[in-house]
Amino acid sequence: MSEPLDRSTIWPYDEQGELPEFNYQRFGSPTVAAAEAALGELDGGTALLFPSGAGATTALVLSLLRPGDTIALARGGYYGTGVTFAALAPWGLQVVEFDQTGVPPEGVELVWLEAPSNPYLTMPNLDAAAAHPAPVVVDATAATPIHLRPLEHGADFALHSATKYLAGHDDVLLGAVICRDGAAAEELRTFRSRTGIVAAPDPAWLLLRGLKTLELRVRRQSKTAAFLAERLRAHPAVEIVRYPGLGGLLSFDVADAATARKVETSTRVIVNATSLGGVTTLIESRSRWEGDRVPPGLLRISTGLEDPEILWADLEQALTQG
Ligand code: PLP
Repeated sequence: MSEPLDRSTIWPYDEQGELPEFNYQRFGSPTVAAAEAALGELDGGTALLFPSGAGATTALVLSLLRPGDTIALARGGYYGTGVTFAALAPWGLQVVEFDQTGVPPEGVELVWLEAPSNPYLTMPNLDAAAAHPAPVVVDATAATPIHLRPLEHGADFALHSATKYLAGHDDVLLGAVICRDGAAAEELRTFRSRTGIVAAPDPAWLLLRGLKTLELRVRRQSKTAAFLAERLRAHPAVEIVRYPGLGGLLSFDVADAATARKVETSTRVIVNATSLGGVTTLIESRSRWEGDRVPPGLLRISTGLEDPEILWADLEQALTQG
């Protein structure tokens, strides 16, 4: 059954002239609320939607932190999260990077993990983070609730770029924060209403539709990623393969930047584009975005739903061009 899509920005007061549950879209709307309920159930908390993953990140840190506060950020995670935090530096936000497989540093006001990190594919030490006095955020975009529910491991907030696996079809930009604590969720909801960083009904409706096939897609994408990782490990042109054993994201290194460029532009089925989590398999060299932060020959693959053997044949022929 398909949920209704309600695009209205307004709903009338009731017969007594009182405010109904939904009254003005910035404060809440039925389609966004339905998508939040579905996602909250999946992740085991109270979900709030934002216009993008980066928007969710911005809203969360601005509502939680104060000028002078420091975030302990997982090193080697999504480079854009560091870019977002750098953009907020003029407002007094500070960042220290740390190895998320170990213990977060002391003296920080927020711990920011990524499961698994993109594109290094490390998994965070959730127990060590949970023992830290500061609130813990886990960006679980790449794991999805199918593989990891961070709130069950002591995290205070799970964050997703719902643009990726949750919506799943490369046609919607959306972000989500799932809160363990109801009061924290209400604070973030109020902050969202006041600052206007709200998701619109159309993307929320696409998320609702995407969630119906999330488990099927993610299980298939994970199986294909494990298969490609195994084949890549045995290939002589491949130096190192990073795959944590879950999810549809993997990365591997070829000799240098020129080889990586040749490989990514030689695939015929696998599309040479950024992003991850959609039904189409994508490949890209990450150094074009991240510069020296990654090895020059690092290629990232996000597996889609195509036949794994066809994907491997495509990758193999591209590797021989490199
Ligand atoms: N978190 C991770 C792990 C990502 O990979 C991305 C985008 O690539 C984001 C957050 C940001 O999400 P969005 O592009 O929806 O703003």
